[in-house]
Amino acid sequence: MKNIYNLTIEELEEYFLSIGEKKFKAIQLYSWLYEKRVKSFDEITDIKKTVIEKLKEDFSIEILKPIKVERDKLVNKYLFELYDGSLVESVLMRHDYGTSICVSSQVGCNMGCKFCESGRLKKVRDLNSYEMVLQILAVEKDINERITHVVIMGIGEPFDNYLNVTNFIKIINHPKGLSIGSRHITVSTSGIVPKILEFADFPYQVNLAISLHAPNDTLRSEIMPINRAYKIKDVMDALKIYYKKTNRRITFEYIMLDGVNDKEEHALELCKLLKGMNCYVNLIPYNETNNIQYKRSKNDNILKFYDIIKKNNIGVTIRREFGSNISAACGQLRSKREELWRHFI
Ligand code: SAH
Ligand code: SF4
Repeated sequence: MKNIYNLTIEELEEYFLSIGEKKFKAIQLYSWLYEKRVKSFDEITDIKKTVIEKLKEDFSIEILKPIKVERDKLVNKYLFELYDGSLVESVLMRHDYGTSICVSSQVGCNMGCKFCESGRLKKVRDLNSYEMVLQILAVEKDINERITHVVIMGIGEPFDNYLNVTNFIKIINHPKGLSIGSRHITVSTSGIVPKILEFADFPYQVNLAISLHAPNDTLRSEIMPINRAYKIKDVMDALKIYYKKTNRRITFEYIMLDGVNDKEEHALELCKLLKGMNCYVNLIPYNETNNIQYKRSKNDNILKFYDIIKKNNIGVTIRREFGSNISAACGQLRSKREELWRHFI
């Protein structure tokens, strides 16, 4: 049975029309689900009984409950068990500008980036839209607050699950859905070119982040196997088209790996690559994990790298570190997982 949280407003309108009802019922139902947060269809008072019965026949209204929560000052990590026993995680972060959640989009990831814990587990399956929506609802329930920003940067490659991810964005962006402004939503991809091009036509003003991590093909192919399929030039060409169509500034993520991609020559090569683009670079101090040999760049080298980019008039930030105490930082979402899998499967 389909979960009701899987439906975009258009899909719900179509559903109501298909059962001989007016399509405005979709908006009514959305507000029961996302504003009033009902737990069962029976709590709905302004839709007639026969329609409620039909909804009960056609949809489940089950939510997700975390099976484990780890709390730190500014970060909470949530572990969810999905209907098939798969485990995914979400991370909540508190900022001075609001509260953001990092949502997982797949169980595992097939991209196999050498530095990433999530990539060590082959993809088991894509998440459905409702499983992403419900990560947000569960976290909001736990903190009793509304989440203001969403980044699709948890486990998984969002563009390898394009339809479910874009439907998820439609649902959370809708004013009667979770009403999260499109400019507060960021999708991060390792660079699947055909999907970047498709995303250029996606009519929502969401942010796009590209996990670049290396300024040339030799190095990038070494640490990110996807680069063998889509070379840096292909990604850049797609981004130029994306920018032409959307006019939206692009973020480049760049993990700082000690002795691998953090030398002066890499910074200069990166500047050459990005010259003239409306973009900014987010330098990410690598979060070391037990299972992977890469080390985090020395702070001095991160700062030197930063200075070179800045001097070349390219916007640059160093990502504030969150959650390393509880292994909730990016790419660490899986490091304690073996242990968890033994417990839960
Ligand atoms: N698959 C998508 C989104 C999820 S990964 C992507 O690759 O963009 C989100 C970000 O976390 C990526 O930039 C990824 O490269 C980064 N990341 C992965 N492992 C990390 C680690 N150990 N430390 C810091 N960042 C990491
Ligand atoms: Fe997948 Fe992103 Fe990890 Fe690469 S960095 S393995 S694309 S989750």
